[in-house]
Amino acid sequence: MHMFKINEDYLKLPGSYLFSAIGKKVAAYEEEHPEQSVIRLGIGDVTQPLAPAIIDALHGAVEEMAHAETFHGYAPDLGYEFLRTAMAEKDYKDRGCDIKADEIFISDGAKCDSGNIQEIFAKDNRIAVCDPVYPVYVDTNVMAGRTGTYNADTETWSDVIYMPCTKETNFAPELPKETPDIIYLCFPNNPTGSTITKPQLQEWVDYANKNGAVIIYDAAYEAYISEEDVPHTIYECDGARTCAIELRSFSKNAGFTGVRLGAAVVPKDLKCGDVMLHALWARRHGTKYNGAPYIVQKAGEAVYSEAGRTQLGEQVAYYMKNAGIIYDGLKSAGYNVSGGVNAPYIWLETPKGMTSWQFFDHLLEHAGVVGTPGSGFGPSGEGYFRLTAFGSYENTVAAISRIKEI
Ligand code: PLP
Repeated sequence: MHMFKINEDYLKLPGSYLFSAIGKKVAAYEEEHPEQSVIRLGIGDVTQPLAPAIIDALHGAVEEMAHAETFHGYAPDLGYEFLRTAMAEKDYKDRGCDIKADEIFISDGAKCDSGNIQEIFAKDNRIAVCDPVYPVYVDTNVMAGRTGTYNADTETWSDVIYMPCTKETNFAPELPKETPDIIYLCFPNNPTGSTITKPQLQEWVDYANKNGAVIIYDAAYEAYISEEDVPHTIYECDGARTCAIELRSFSKNAGFTGVRLGAAVVPKDLKCGDVMLHALWARRHGTKYNGAPYIVQKAGEAVYSEAGRTQLGEQVAYYMKNAGIIYDGLKSAGYNVSGGVNAPYIWLETPKGMTSWQFFDHLLEHAGVVGTPGSGFGPSGEGYFRLTAFGSYENTVAAISRIKEI
């Protein structure tokens, strides 16, 4: 009998064990200890409500949709000009970067863009990723058949170039020995909370231009940068226009995890021979995507208003205060910690040689606190643990005092 075939590359994906395993362990603990409130500092989701300036913009846009004269149907392919212009001005021009509004493609978030962007590259391109890493970059290349075979013992793919980010390198990657075609970088980093300086990022840009590689730069945590020498965008580096795509998200700077908005920046100078990647991404966007909702793009515009910037600055400061509490608290309790200064993630070395999962159990059992085992982000995450600053202030303070009492 005739039978359709599936994309067998999907079958190569190992189960997404991490968050389901965490969920099961937490549920079992809660059942056994109904008296203990569990504090969750594991998942990287925000908890503060949308800022008033965003809510006002949403209400205004909803009202516009109620009247024929101001109603909006399909959005333009690249997104509304008002949002792209605001981004070009505030995210780029104000930082001295040359990015035009028509090089910005509005999307529903950095997860989709980071997963979809690989489509415009040939299947036999080799990708390089940091280890540990945000899993979407690898898994979407697995689905596309670009990663070779999986080794369950080492939890690595044969055709992926891994760039270990260890404490020896301040959790930054080193230039790979084998030459990749596509390099995924994310700074400030999830999960380690590490950053690199502008001269360090410049080295990557120079390397990519010299070796004919493209950098996919995920700037989802840009709003958390507090130090002067940390670049807010890869386009602060000379030559980035010819080698880098940048992904932006409204999730962590403005609390849009449930609202959904992001953007991909593809400069027109980024070419393979005569072919502009901009043209390919425009074709893909126009064919497969109908745009983020008008209402949401109006909310995105409010992120750049004066009121929006002030309110969101306060929101980021709220989370970063939590980050400071976690960082200082763990440090004074004798832990080796990093991150938390330019990122809402604190990366800690598990004590006494515990594995990431042993420490997860230890923390849950003795403190009722949930974090994320570093090994879930890649082999070099073994022996590490991630806590997030996205909880409430009260929960964060309570969690740290419980951890100190262990
Ligand atoms: N990129 C990184 C590195 C992330 O950690 C996340 C979310 O946790 C995303 C992208 C997803 O962003 P968005 O909500 O815009 O899809």
